[in-house]
Amino acid sequence: MGQYASSREQVVATCRALLERGYLKATEGNVSVRVPGEEAFAVTPSSYDYAKMRADDIVVLDFEQKRLEGTLKASIEAGMHAAVYRERPDVNAIVHTHQPYASALALVRRPIPALFDEQVRFLGRSVEIIDYAPSGTSFLKKNVRRTVTSGANAFILANHGVLVLGGDTERAVFNMALLEKVALDYLLALMTDDKVRKVPAPIREIAFAKLRGDEKKLKKQLVAAREAAEAAEAAASAAGEAPAETAPPAPSPTSADDAAGPSGAQLAGYAISAYPDVEAVSRRLQALVSQPLRPIRRDAMAGYLDYFETQCRRSKELTEEAKEFIPGGVQHNLAFNYPFPLAIERAEGARLWDVDGNEYIDFLQAGGPTVLGSNYAPLREKVAEVVAASGPVTGLFHEYELKLAQLVNRLMPSCEMFRMLGSGTESVMAAIRAARTHTGKKWVIKIGGAYHGWSDQMVYGLHVPGTWRFEAKGIPFGATARTREVYPNDLKALRRKLIEDKALGGTAAVIVEPIGPESGTRPVPFEFNARVRELCDEFGALLIFDEVVTGFRLGLGGAQGYFGVRPDLTIFGKCITGGYPMAGGVGGRRDVMLSFASGIGGKSGERAYVGGTLSANPLSCAAGYFAITEMERTNAPVIAGRAGDRLTAGLSDIIRCHRLPFVAYNQGSIVHLETSGVMLLDLKHPLRLAKELKPRKHMLEEMGAAYTANGVITLAGSRMYTSMADTDEVIDDALERFERVLSSVEGV
Ligand code: PMP
Repeated sequence: MGQYASSREQVVATCRALLERGYLKATEGNVSVRVPGEEAFAVTPSSYDYAKMRADDIVVLDFEQKRLEGTLKASIEAGMHAAVYRERPDVNAIVHTHQPYASALALVRRPIPALFDEQVRFLGRSVEIIDYAPSGTSFLKKNVRRTVTSGANAFILANHGVLVLGGDTERAVFNMALLEKVALDYLLALMTDDKVRKVPAPIREIAFAKLRGDEKKLKKQLVAAREAAEAAEAAASAAGEAPAETAPPAPSPTSADDAAGPSGAQLAGYAISAYPDVEAVSRRLQALVSQPLRPIRRDAMAGYLDYFETQCRRSKELTEEAKEFIPGGVQHNLAFNYPFPLAIERAEGARLWDVDGNEYIDFLQAGGPTVLGSNYAPLREKVAEVVAASGPVTGLFHEYELKLAQLVNRLMPSCEMFRMLGSGTESVMAAIRAARTHTGKKWVIKIGGAYHGWSDQMVYGLHVPGTWRFEAKGIPFGATARTREVYPNDLKALRRKLIEDKALGGTAAVIVEPIGPESGTRPVPFEFNARVRELCDEFGALLIFDEVVTGFRLGLGGAQGYFGVRPDLTIFGKCITGGYPMAGGVGGRRDVMLSFASGIGGKSGERAYVGGTLSANPLSCAAGYFAITEMERTNAPVIAGRAGDRLTAGLSDIIRCHRLPFVAYNQGSIVHLETSGVMLLDLKHPLRLAKELKPRKHMLEEMGAAYTANGVITLAGSRMYTSMADTDEVIDDALERFERVLSSVEGV
């Protein structure tokens, strides 16, 4: 898609929000957003099914209604939208629908007076009637233009529908909902014979002044954004490059299969021996999702499921009983419940044993924290000594807090200061809070599909890029109102979002998983992080590296050391406590980190509030300190990385040998084996997503169950973490088991 992709995506997202709330369905309407810094807007096409709408379907027009992008016919009401944008610089999003309640008032030509403070605060002094004129005519345009100068944000179009305006898309959707509620209330009130009482005029004026104040602010920000965009373009063209994006240099080819970028020799001490050729991997992943599924043969699958029934009886009993007391019977999002979860009794090194005594090779490694291998005895003993002396927690300072902070600072010098917290999720919340406190800016941009924990503001574009609030059940709209997502590896889109945000309060931070969303399930080109750093510098946004997975697993310098990019803030989890509880932390620039100053006499006023009864306890800090020093002594990340290479090479051989469409690749000890491709679906192909999500997900469950039945535990059936305990013998044993499963795939 072209240069207006981001505005077009915003229109689709807004339509989706309206559909979700039932506002567009039966009677349709049209939606548009202003292209920041230009006399242009992106608008829905004429007579189109909103449920099927994709960003490519959206039309971009200038204010003369000349087409700038898109092939479909623009909405018949596009002229009305242009008229509003011309007249109202504070408006950045417009929604027009044929809502039943407000439309009823359109028939009786009843403006809605000031009935509620909230209504006046967001919609204006009253909801006026715009005189009738037929759809799409210049008469209607004129009538609209004349009426919207009142500064209100909601209008009733006589014998037609409603017109709702907003400073941004979220506000336009909110205003739409508010108008419909007020219209219904007014209709109900009119049905009684009582007099409808209005908000007292002085109060109405105070509320309206607030709305006007917001509008003035938006107008000013928009002018600032236009100037910034123009300055950026001028600077870029002076440097002789396209303004929208700096193209990453082509990766240098290496002899290894699908490998590009620096080799192990260039980056000693890191787990990645050869950076994957992201373009080649992405092509193969795309080929995988374009093909029909290749699941396990039904007879073989029946045999694998039989393993669970006959060999895992105690697990079944326990987890069945657990369903009575624990929702779903299992507490980890990454635990398989197909056909039922396993109950694990013992873990050591590269192996796990379940309660029925079955042994497994453990490529889950607790989801990544145990680079030394599970339940590493020397670490356990050190932790036990500390706990024997101080107990797990005292609520007071302990020397290991300092030792761990100093160690993090030595290994990752960008972490001038460090604050320990309870989990990766908490640490992301804290880092964003510090970024907003420090910069005074509003927005946070993440990459679609990335996982940054489950805090309200980050359950957005989760797992599947472009899915916006799909997973945000139970999360209020406001909580995600300042979060944006851009499609993976789309630097142009990132730049556009940064420009747009500048108009609306600025971007506080861009947060990335440095090897790509979902721990590299959608890998990024080697240069990507450096380009994001440049964009952050250009727009004054902080760069947050979420190193929950990569921190110390990729090497002791983390992804930032490997890529040679210095983030402003770094998120830690998992390895920061070597697999022991309360694994979370934020490190970063001294001036930003000081927002977290703590203690009763700590900083107040400008302080970003974070805390936790159990965070930074002696157990977690000592565990982290000893785990990481032991990883340094033993060179564990590199050893685990070599095991990952061996596993990937073996898997690739099996795939090649059986002529399967599956894809294996690794970033050191993070190994991906994509068979169903479910994680590669996205909203750029919504029909495919809707049709294939379930069957591809089920195939993934089956693959995971088949690996388990053959003695290999993976992460969700498509990812594996290797550890220092994975000797060549362990890997070769695992490969034999994979060979058994993959040779039972249909068509082999
Ligand atoms: N960020 C990333 C990249 C993660 O992989 C995870 C957890 N898998 C988190 C954040 C959240 O960390 P936690 O589970 O400790 O809350």
